[in-house]
Amino acid sequence: MQFEEAPDPVPNSDEALVRVRACALNHLDLWARNGLPNVTIPMPHISGCDISGVVEWVPAEEKRFAKGDEVIVNPGLGCGRCDRCLSGRDNQCQDYTVIGYGTDGGYAELIKVRRTHLIEKPRGMGFVEAASFPLVFETAYHMLATKARAGPGDTVLVLAASSGVGSAAVQVAKVLGSRVIATAGGSEKMEKSLELGADFVIDHYKQDVLAEVRRLTEKRGVDVVIEHVGKATWEGSLKSLARGGRLVTCGATTGSDAVTDLRYVYNRELTIYGSFMAGMGELFEVVRLFNDGRLKVVVDSKYPLKEAAKAQKRMEESAHFGKIVLTV
Ligand SMILES: [Zn+2]
Repeated sequence: MQFEEAPDPVPNSDEALVRVRACALNHLDLWARNGLPNVTIPMPHISGCDISGVVEWVPAEEKRFAKGDEVIVNPGLGCGRCDRCLSGRDNQCQDYTVIGYGTDGGYAELIKVRRTHLIEKPRGMGFVEAASFPLVFETAYHMLATKARAGPGDTVLVLAASSGVGSAAVQVAKVLGSRVIATAGGSEKMEKSLELGADFVIDHYKQDVLAEVRRLTEKRGVDVVIEHVGKATWEGSLKSLARGGRLVTCGATTGSDAVTDLRYVYNRELTIYGSFMAGMGELFEVVRLFNDGRLKVVVDSKYPLKEAAKAQKRMEESAHFGKIVLTV
């Protein structure tokens, strides 16, 4: 990864030019940099999908946004015209990609984005905070509200509450009225998980997560597991579920070749949901919750754009709690 001059993007009439003020890191950035089988990343590539900034240019026909408006950018890109896109499931569009993954992203001073992807920055929120929430909170919302339909009466196990998705999921599950058991590594991260609203927290370095889940639920198990760790936790996650429980997975940071004991799945009538990003409309729900003061952004650290490599290294080392953000 190199810090260098690149030509200014030239927007077409469907697009806006945004002056980037902050761009948060996501695991997607690491996957894009490391490469994935059967995925072609256009090169040279500018990473970064969680963007806040100021509108620099819009065409004259744009009615909702004008130069100088403070915005965030909806990161998911569907085709906008297929049955999936038009029914609010644009994340299932065959042409779906993510800004900064399939296109140039926000590790830059300027970015061109579709005008339909501009969203007003939540009231009273700084640029760093505004860049920190779209991807992880819309993902957590999609996993909990749309897929698992978590609600009052449900106990939700959130793995690695210190991660971006984890810290969002703890809060979204509480907003939905569920009881939350979080896992975290070490006393400092455990304390922060409780501050986010977790009802119980398990130290995944020192304690047996499955045994603790059984103890805390009087052997019943949890109704929902929020999985994004993968191979290292998969078996325990399945075994943590109560009968009829739902597991939602949005990633596999420790490896994707996990083993599923099918006996658990059929005997206990478990449901496994895959979850990728969210429908564009779900981000509006999340913005509403921020405007109502019901969610809060968790920022770990800030780095100037030219130190993007250092910022990615911090993410790879898992030393962070919450979002790592580049400022421009
Ligand atoms: Zn589509």
